[in-house]
Amino acid sequence: MAKSGHEIRNAIARKQMSAVEVVEAALAHAQALEPQLHAYIRLIPERALAKARAIDEQIKSGEALGPLAGVPVAVKDIFCVAGEITTAGSKILENFRAPYSATVVDKLDNAGAVIIGKTNMDEFAMGSSCENSAFGPTRNPWDLEGVPGGSSGGSASTVGASTVPIGLGTDTGGSIREPASFCNIVGVKPTYGRVSRYGMIAFASSLDQAGPMTGDVFDAAQTLSVIAGHDPMDSTSVDMPVPDYAAALRTDLRGVRVGIVSEFETEIAKNDPGMAALYKAAYADLERLGARLVDVRLPHARYGLATYYLIAPAECSSNLARYDGARYGRRVDGDGDVFTMFERTRAEGFGDEVKRRIILGTYALSAGYYDAYYVRAQKIRTLIKQDFDAAFESCDVIACPSVSTPAFELGAKTQDPVAMYLMDYFTIPMSLAGVPALSVPAGYVNDLPVGLQIVARPFEEATMLGIAHAYEQSTHHAQARTSQVAMLSSAGRTGS
Ligand code: GLN
Repeated sequence: MAKSGHEIRNAIARKQMSAVEVVEAALAHAQALEPQLHAYIRLIPERALAKARAIDEQIKSGEALGPLAGVPVAVKDIFCVAGEITTAGSKILENFRAPYSATVVDKLDNAGAVIIGKTNMDEFAMGSSCENSAFGPTRNPWDLEGVPGGSSGGSASTVGASTVPIGLGTDTGGSIREPASFCNIVGVKPTYGRVSRYGMIAFASSLDQAGPMTGDVFDAAQTLSVIAGHDPMDSTSVDMPVPDYAAALRTDLRGVRVGIVSEFETEIAKNDPGMAALYKAAYADLERLGARLVDVRLPHARYGLATYYLIAPAECSSNLARYDGARYGRRVDGDGDVFTMFERTRAEGFGDEVKRRIILGTYALSAGYYDAYYVRAQKIRTLIKQDFDAAFESCDVIACPSVSTPAFELGAKTQDPVAMYLMDYFTIPMSLAGVPALSVPAGYVNDLPVGLQIVARPFEEATMLGIAHAYEQSTHHAQARTSQVAMLSSAGRTGS
């Protein structure tokens, strides 16, 4: 199914196909690819088909259709869907059935979208490769020996394989943008506060944001308009009108000042000459479309990683304290002693990376170390935010790499946590600053896809998406090649 969400919706509205047909095809495609990709923790065919039938009824009775009517969508297993198992990629929530739906899930439902399954992810969204899932790793549709990125790897993989046009992910330090880059799709991390976090399992609450992962910028824009907005259930969601992002898309960049970050350019040049050449070409494309390139500086961005790895674990150690066997999910018997129960439940329920973060975060918050670590990290976070404010005085958006490499091989970084953390070098500063950022396909290095990151001022998602759209429409990188999984399925190897 290579169609975009808006094409599917319009075909259904024109009765060229039924929602049930579309959803059955998406479910069959997902099932056929599961042995190769393992993009899903669970498909939810019953819920999906019931929803598709309801859409077909709506069409029959001539009712107005939502903007995503009949469009199959996949959501990361971090979002609660009422009545469905929601695991966050963890054994500790293996059998946890959500009692209510996340606000973004309700919003998708109301727009007519059909959720076909819950996608795989690094446990509690901690990771950059999807290998920290308690349910086994997901693979990259462009390289079946490669990782899809993480932590929203399942959504990236299934959208990258064209099973569904739209996925939902979350991004705390790069978890939408990095997998989008690896899987040749568009991934948007909105401004902190633009999208409700209600019903989204918390990792680091001052950083977590939900966002669309899609085959093209138009679908990303439309999906963001659907999921954004104030929610009384999330006090950090901002009460500002939600623009029609799709209506604001543009096809040229005349009058736009694009900031190029000197520190990042030095960093990427040190890495791989292929990557540096690709970004040079991408910036030249922006110029060709009418943009003016200006040099900007983010002098504190290089402290981003260290800052993030104090703040995020600190928040995670607090958020994950609730999984103790008493209230949620898994419980391991404590032979009559409640503390033994807590200990055993957490020892068996959490994976290694989650434990590492809880220990790190507890340490950073402990009396005596709080000022030295947590408070200083918060101060540097402010400096990073001020760097962005200063940069945006001389430019409208920033363009930079999404990740320093294309997808790496499964297992390549599992023994080296710091090498894994480094994958978010270019995405973490934006998360700490709370500014919106997206990744859009920018070409191929060693035959693997790579994304261009576009960053905007707070709540200027419309500007950011408009620029990404102009770039996408003049380059068509996502369509330039065929993914490995598509080649295999056309050769009949996946049975689809
Ligand atoms: N890779 C980063 C981490 O492991 C970011 C994860 C995320 O954005 N959820 O924390």
